[in-house]
Amino acid sequence: MKVEAEIREIFGHLGKLIVAHREMGLEPPPLSDETLNYLGVAESGINAPRAKGAKGPYSPGGTPDRGDQPDSLEVLRASIGECRRCKLHGNRTRVVFGEGSPQAELVFVGEGPGQEEDLAGRPFVGEAGRLLTKIIENGIRLARKEVYICNVVKCRPPGNRDPERDEIEACTPFLEKQLHIIGPRVICSLGRVAAQCLIGPEFKITKERGTWHTYKEIPLMPTYHPAYLLRYPSAKRQVWEDIQKVMVHLDLEVKKNG
Ligand code: SF4
Repeated sequence: MKVEAEIREIFGHLGKLIVAHREMGLEPPPLSDETLNYLGVAESGINAPRAKGAKGPYSPGGTPDRGDQPDSLEVLRASIGECRRCKLHGNRTRVVFGEGSPQAELVFVGEGPGQEEDLAGRPFVGEAGRLLTKIIENGIRLARKEVYICNVVKCRPPGNRDPERDEIEACTPFLEKQLHIIGPRVICSLGRVAAQCLIGPEFKITKERGTWHTYKEIPLMPTYHPAYLLRYPSAKRQVWEDIQKVMVHLDLEVKKNG
């Protein structure tokens, strides 16, 4: 009986993966209607071509639909697999999906993994990452695992260059779905690339950081990337001001010299 229950669970996960692949724009396996019925995914029309101009959870500006699959970060990560949707796959060691609490009220979004992140398969673990961790733990006074941290692109751009437009377009659906699944109270974008991805290409980091924006109705505070702070430590004061605004929005106590 236990074996049967486990097999049913495996089929359940398989069905979720097939739906998730369809949402990612990946080709679903050519299965018969009987098999799709058995997996419980026939009604989602996964073998039907996606309607032109359809607004799903991956369409920038589209309306999030809480009923769409995948419904968890684990399923989303599994659906990405060893992704080859853009040319960044060629140089990466690991896909850096993101980490933290799936129930996080605060999500940090950077632009892409660096060398240490690529090797570790974790976001923000290098020098800039250690600075971000300090901001979270010493400034905001939350544990790093209480927030969620991810990037616009999940694979390291060679030489730490900025991700290119086609790479951002290919990978942004994953970020959008992460944000959709987590549903944070606040997003804090780190650096120009992440802000332009979430707000729009006209965003200017030097003029507009520290001012509230929205991403699909979620308040978004753009600030400088921690890597920028390593080069220009004098900008730490501005970042701390931005972070304090985030803390006030989250009803967190702001210590004067945090
Ligand atoms: S950057 Fe994103 S879209 Fe490109 S290969 Fe990596 S996971 Fe896939």
